Amino acid sequence: MKTIGVIGGMSWESSAEYYRLLNRYAKARLGGHHNARSVMVTVDFAVVEADQRAGDWVSLGRQMADAARQLERGGADLVMLATNTMHRVHESIEQAIKVPFLHIADPTGAALRSAGIERVGLLGTRYTMEQQFYVGRLRERHGLDTVIPDEDERADVHRIIYDELCHGRIDAQSRDIYRRVIGRLAERGAQAVILGCTEITLLIKPEDSTLPVFDTTALHAQEAVDWAIKEDTVTPRT
Ligand code: GLU
Repeated sequence: MKTIGVIGGMSWESSAEYYRLLNRYAKARLGGHHNARSVMVTVDFAVVEADQRAGDWVSLGRQMADAARQLERGGADLVMLATNTMHRVHESIEQAIKVPFLHIADPTGAALRSAGIERVGLLGTRYTMEQQFYVGRLRERHGLDTVIPDEDERADVHRIIYDELCHGRIDAQSRDIYRRVIGRLAERGAQAVILGCTEITLLIKPEDSTLPVFDTTALHAQEAVDWAIKEDTVTPRT
């Protein structure tokens, strides 16, 4: 099995979920005592979150590139970024490393298309919902039409991510808010919903949603494990 490199810490609550899922999928695929070979670099989310608010994506690109280089030096054969939002600077990462980078929107887009979805709701941070880096990739690479919540709903979705989920707080009232937002996306024609922030899976399970749920954390982790197993078969380590 190849070694999966994870840029984590954004927040560590979701990185812990990645760690669990990578190992769980590897065990499901390989059985016995197998787990995923992996390395993780954890960045300090306080620094990242402050730069996000300041709109300093240049500094953020540098930080992500440094973390990716660290992973490559540490033996990663593949790099993945355990947050949707920071994919805004995915090019800085790709330019910094020689090993492949697994973009989180791609396994998600592929899963949606193979389920026959054409119009999908997107929940995530304001950056992910409002800027073009994510919605644009879904449209250009996967032919998906995206619906985002309205202004007030986006404010709630964003606040709950940063003030609650990134601190490990799971609140039933916030779950109700998300349920309502998903219901509104359905009214506006969404056939499914993307949990486009890696912490949302901690709050919303498929049974909480009237729409089919596409969880970026799970789809990303699954794709990484599939890659690590498949690539090892293609070019076995000596
Ligand atoms: N983990 C979140 C995401 O998937 C938000 C935290 C961050 O800003 O990176 O977008």
